[in-house]
Amino acid sequence: LFVSFEGIDGCGKSTQSKALRNHLEGEGQTVVLTREPGGSPGAEEIRQLVLTGEPGRWSAESELLLFNAARRDHIEKTIRPALQAGKTVITDRFADSTRVYQGATRGDLRGMVDQLHDLMIGIEPDVTFLIDMDPSTALERGLARRSGEDRYEEFGLGFQETLRHGFLALAKRFSNRCVVIDGNRDIGAVSAEICAHMAARVGS
Ligand code: C5P
Repeated sequence: LFVSFEGIDGCGKSTQSKALRNHLEGEGQTVVLTREPGGSPGAEEIRQLVLTGEPGRWSAESELLLFNAARRDHIEKTIRPALQAGKTVITDRFADSTRVYQGATRGDLRGMVDQLHDLMIGIEPDVTFLIDMDPSTALERGLARRSGEDRYEEFGLGFQETLRHGFLALAKRFSNRCVVIDGNRDIGAVSAEICAHMAARVGS
C-alpha cells in the first residue's frame, strides 16, 4: 500500500506520518517512511539544490524539472522496491505537492506539471491524507521551525492560503484517493482519525 501525506507547511504532515508508521508497525506491518523532496540519496542531493540558495536561483520550469528528477529517483530507488517487497510506503509529500507548489504558485504551470507527471512519474498513492488546517496557525508553526533558513520568500499568509486552496481543489479532483483530515485538533485526535481510515480501508 502506498500512502502519502500532503498539506501546507506546518500542518503536521511529518508528525502524522510518523504516528501512522508507528501504528502500522505496532500491527506487524513492515513500513518504509520516506519524504519529498528527497527520500533516496540522489533525491536528497536534489533537495539541497532546490531548497538552498538565493530565491530565484532556478526558473519555475527548471525547478519543476528538478522536482521531477528527484521524484523519479525516489520512485526507482525507494518507493518501487519497497512496494514490490510487499511493504507499506508512507511518504511525507508526493506529486500533489508539485501540482500545488510548482504548478500554481509561480505562474500557472499546471498543464506542464500534468504532462511531466504522465511522462516520467505515472504512479499515484493508494491513499492520500490531506491535513487541512488554518493557514495562520500552520504559518506560526512553520516559521518557528524554519527560523529564516528557508529560501521561500513567498512564505507568508497569502502564500499559505493559496496553497491551502490548491490542496483542497486537488482533494476534489482526486476524490477517489484523497481523505481530507481536519488538522486543527490535537495530535492524538488527528492521528486516531487517520488510523481509523486505514483500518476501514483494510477491512473493506
Ligand atoms: O515538507 P518539507 O517541510 O520538508 O518541505 C520543504 C520545503 O519545500 C517547504 O518549504 C515546501 O514549501 C517546499 N516544497 C516545494 N515544492 C514541493 C515540495 C516542497 O516548494 N513539491
